[in-house]
Amino acid sequence: MSYDVIIVGGGPAGLAAGLYTARMDLKAVLLDRGPLGGQLLNTELVEDYPGFESVLGSELATKMGEHARKFGLEIRDFEPVKEIELEGNTKVVPRYLGVPGEKEFWGRGVSYCAVCDGAFFKGQELAVVGGGDAAVEEGEFLTRYASKVYIVHRRNELRAQPILIDRARNNPKVEVILESAVKGITGNEKVQSVRYEQAGVTKELPVGGVFIFVGFVPNSGLLKMHVDHDEGGYILTGRDMQTSVEGIWAVGDVRSQLTKQISTAVGDGTTAAVAASAYVTSLKDAART
Ligand SMILES: Cc1cc2nc3c(=O)[nH]c(=O)nc-3n(C[C@H](O)[C@H](O)[C@H](O)COP(=O)(O)OP(=O)(O)OC[C@H]3O[C@@H](n4cnc5c(N)ncnc54)[C@H](O)[C@@H]3O)c2cc1C
Repeated sequence: MSYDVIIVGGGPAGLAAGLYTARMDLKAVLLDRGPLGGQLLNTELVEDYPGFESVLGSELATKMGEHARKFGLEIRDFEPVKEIELEGNTKVVPRYLGVPGEKEFWGRGVSYCAVCDGAFFKGQELAVVGGGDAAVEEGEFLTRYASKVYIVHRRNELRAQPILIDRARNNPKVEVILESAVKGITGNEKVQSVRYEQAGVTKELPVGGVFIFVGFVPNSGLLKMHVDHDEGGYILTGRDMQTSVEGIWAVGDVRSQLTKQISTAVGDGTTAAVAASAYVTSLKDAART
């Protein structure tokens, strides 16, 4: 089967690109290694996507998928792209903290997804490691289940959006521990405590689980071999989202840029779709002459 455009990844960026390409009558297919939605599926409530005062991440994902399908986008979920030979790529995976005990207790108290695993920790005290949007939002989310959530952050202030910080600070179950670097996770069968260093003093926090949200590394491995990227591995693009290789566009969180949000991912997808459409048309025109 031959397509005008192949989109790898069905998060907001890929779904926006899919909607636009399909609506511009290109023959497009979107492949995702999992269910549609990307990080939207890890997001409880979205309150900053224009037009939606408050919407569940999963609901927004369903709506985006249905919208793109309506215009004829072929969507194939649970189809991972294993190799890229000069075609697009996507996404993000959690960044590991890299402390002793993290790998050992993964699945036995260490988690990277509050929505997935939070319910296993009913009534327990938990530690969340990190200080950005994901850490603060997920930390607050975990108070649904946990009796107490400690947000342990190495800097002297949280980096999350003010509205998320306010919410967490007003939640009596949340306690923020700043200027504290996590050094290890300990336990027997399961996690029993987190060891951290504060002002040169090593301290022990007894917890039943540790949720790690210290950012993401771009899942750009295969594409990185082909295109220019920054020192963090994020793909460099021009203003049309095209990478350093003609015919390959990078959109959303995988791209080197200031903001990683649903709205910016959708904008990237839109720009790339328009640019890809012009490119495909020029190739078709050239083939005719
Ligand atoms: C907890 C949390 C809360 C957030 N809250 C908000 C918020 O309130 N507002 C906001 O604007 N943003 C929020 N964000 C950020 C927002 O979700 C992301 O910026 C956005 O989802 C990025 O979209 P994307 O399409 O670039 O990537 P993603 O959403 O990560 O989608 C990438 C997709 O690519 C797929 N994929 C990866 N590799 C392959 C492969 N080899 N083959 C096939 N498919 C592949 C993945 O399965 C995934 O579906 C939040 C993020 C998190 C984690």
